[in-house]
Amino acid sequence: MTQPILSIRNLSASVEGTPILKGLNLEVNAGETHAIMGRNGSGKSTLSKVITGHPDYEVTGGEVIYQGQDLLEKEPHERALMGIFLAFQYPLEIPGVSNLDFLRIAYNAKCKYLGLEELDAFDFEDLIQEKLEVVKMNSAFLDRSLNEGFSGGEKKRNEILQMAVLEPNLSILDEIDSGLDIDALRIVSEGVNTLKRPDNAGIVITHYQRLLNYIIPDQIHVMQEGRIVLSGGKELALELEEKGYDFLDEAALAPV
Ligand code: ADP
Ligand code: MG
Repeated sequence: MTQPILSIRNLSASVEGTPILKGLNLEVNAGETHAIMGRNGSGKSTLSKVITGHPDYEVTGGEVIYQGQDLLEKEPHERALMGIFLAFQYPLEIPGVSNLDFLRIAYNAKCKYLGLEELDAFDFEDLIQEKLEVVKMNSAFLDRSLNEGFSGGEKKRNEILQMAVLEPNLSILDEIDSGLDIDALRIVSEGVNTLKRPDNAGIVITHYQRLLNYIIPDQIHVMQEGRIVLSGGKELALELEEKGYDFLDEAALAPV
């Protein structure tokens, strides 16, 4: 059997001394897309930040193995170089840093890490034109400061542009659907689907079933209070849409 891309066992993590993740298990194989759903505050974004190594989040137990390596001992930038990508729920605006320079520097950092030739500004222009197509973005966005003054939908598209440039092995999309109108949702989803390969994997975090009409997951997991309490196939999203998250509480209370 081939090894999973990501294997999380009994993961616990705290922020500012408060336990948020409380024994989470998840396994993601190459070629798979997993959706993580759950109420606000259930720990979904925390999970994405722990995987990528955000310094505010302290791992208090368990393990995270990425392509056979212990991820928790790696620095955040090493995790990125190793092919982990996070599209933020709330992308940051960075005035003074051009979007194009940001993308080229990130791309070249990865080339260097992989021992590949770095691209100069001219060659990168060619590459980026092709990547803009993936998210149907206008090249005018390249000359602006990173996310500065971008609308909510434009920020989300820009996250997928970064993903297209970096070609991650594991992408984590945290509420990529929030703030998108229906056309942007379709474009972003098609972009994500285009970037899917047999040797990479994705985790999509969402509140809404709607996104999962466009990005079809192999498995859906529902988080509650820092754990995955329910997993199933794509039909689980429809059940949640119909019943709401309250049914999880009822299921927990129901006598067996
Ligand atoms: P979700 O993404 O599922 O809505 P989060 O992972 O963002 O949930 O948050 C889970 C819990 O952790 C919430 O109660 C939230 O307030 C808390 N939390 C997350 N990040 C921080 C932080 N940096 N400081 C304090 N509390 C936090
Ligand atoms: Mg969140």
